[in-house]
Amino acid sequence: MTYEKNNRRDFDERVRKMVEAGYETVAREAIACTRCPLHKSAIKRVIGKGSCHPRVFFIGEAPGESENKIGIPFYGKAGKQLDKMIEYMGLSEDDWMVTNTVKCHPPENRKPIINEIECCKPFLLAQIILLNPKIMILLGNTAERSYCPEKKLEWGVPEEVEGRTILKLYHPAALIYTASKIETQHAFIDKNRSLWT
Ligand code: URA
Repeated sequence: MTYEKNNRRDFDERVRKMVEAGYETVAREAIACTRCPLHKSAIKRVIGKGSCHPRVFFIGEAPGESENKIGIPFYGKAGKQLDKMIEYMGLSEDDWMVTNTVKCHPPENRKPIINEIECCKPFLLAQIILLNPKIMILLGNTAERSYCPEKKLEWGVPEEVEGRTILKLYHPAALIYTASKIETQHAFIDKNRSLWT
């Protein structure tokens, strides 16, 4: 068997076992994980925030400094933007959940690299399978690189992938630095409202 096939089998087996064991096991294993160097810069592991029966599942990039201290995703400035976005979407607390491509804070706030994203992906996939959301919202290109690396989605244009609707929107942090993107983001949301309402 090739190295790649072995890796794939190990990956699928990790996802399968976590799904079988349930959500708390996913969180416990993510907290104990030392598979990639990111664990060295993690104070707290950042697993997820939101409903345990979400219709909409947001994937961000990586925990920032505030999230690393507190262990909750989108707790800092980008979180305030995400809150505004969720309000604009008209979602209630029970409707959504958010996590990141990696559960550990990358040093210097850098983007996670592909190996780190791949190492952490079994946790993300197990979360998605267990929570079974209908709509996946990928917040930026890193989320797309993690969840569907084989695709190049258009911003704001939904696609069906394996029984779920996927929509790529701007990362909330991008809205802080480029105010004009807020209008475009609102237009993407308006165009796609029927997906979640
Ligand atoms: N905080 C997060 O949890 N994720 C991001 O992508 C940015 C800030």
